[in-house]
Amino acid sequence: CGIVGVLGNHEAAPILVDALRRLEYRGYDSAGIATIDDGKLGRRRALGKLVNLSDMLVHDPIKGKAGIGHTRWATHGAPTVANAHPHRAGRVAVVHNGIIENFKSLREELLNNGAEFRTETDTETIVQLCMSFMDGGAPPKEAAEKTIAMLDGAFALCFLFDGEEDLLIAARKGSPLAIGHGEGEMFVGSDAIALAPMTNKITYLEEGDWAVITRNSVDVYDTNGALANREMRELNLST
Ligand code: GLU
Repeated sequence: CGIVGVLGNHEAAPILVDALRRLEYRGYDSAGIATIDDGKLGRRRALGKLVNLSDMLVHDPIKGKAGIGHTRWATHGAPTVANAHPHRAGRVAVVHNGIIENFKSLREELLNNGAEFRTETDTETIVQLCMSFMDGGAPPKEAAEKTIAMLDGAFALCFLFDGEEDLLIAARKGSPLAIGHGEGEMFVGSDAIALAPMTNKITYLEEGDWAVITRNSVDVYDTNGALANREMRELNLST
């Protein structure tokens, strides 16, 4: 029920957990993060309160300065660790708020093409679909664009890719999503409040937008795939 993303210059895990804590008011049943360390994607997920995830990270830390995080309010699939986000297939990880309405037909098609599903969620369809495009030779940006175009429903998404230390792809359809601008750092949050300790410079994605984010750039595309000019605002957020 909350999404965060970081392309930073400091360890991402504590920043992600802290940002998720600021979204706790929305309610959730499990939480998780994924980071890229030395090009390698790692993730940790835990049931229940965020403190369970932060305890796990003390004993079994993950390093890296890029990452995504999620608090889940289960809609498809029981609240279990396996169903907790981030979801992963091959090189692709994603956090997702909302519901993918056409996940059954997408899943069917992916299963017919040999994909092996490990969860009961609608969300896993997103990573499997994106990975199938990458297996077909598409680079991450193109694979994500094709994936997003095929999804029906209401969602906010943030993708992270194995081997990509400086790339997040975010998308919004029916669920709010904010991009926070730092100094050589970028952030993503389902609510600007989550990003308040890091930045008050916020760009809100508009309906149907998706964005390619690096530490020094944000390119927002509209539903037609055209570059969109979305203003950056300075919010008055209390930390
Ligand atoms: N539909 C997804 C799931 O059940 C995401 C739920 C959410 O917004 O947290 O895993």
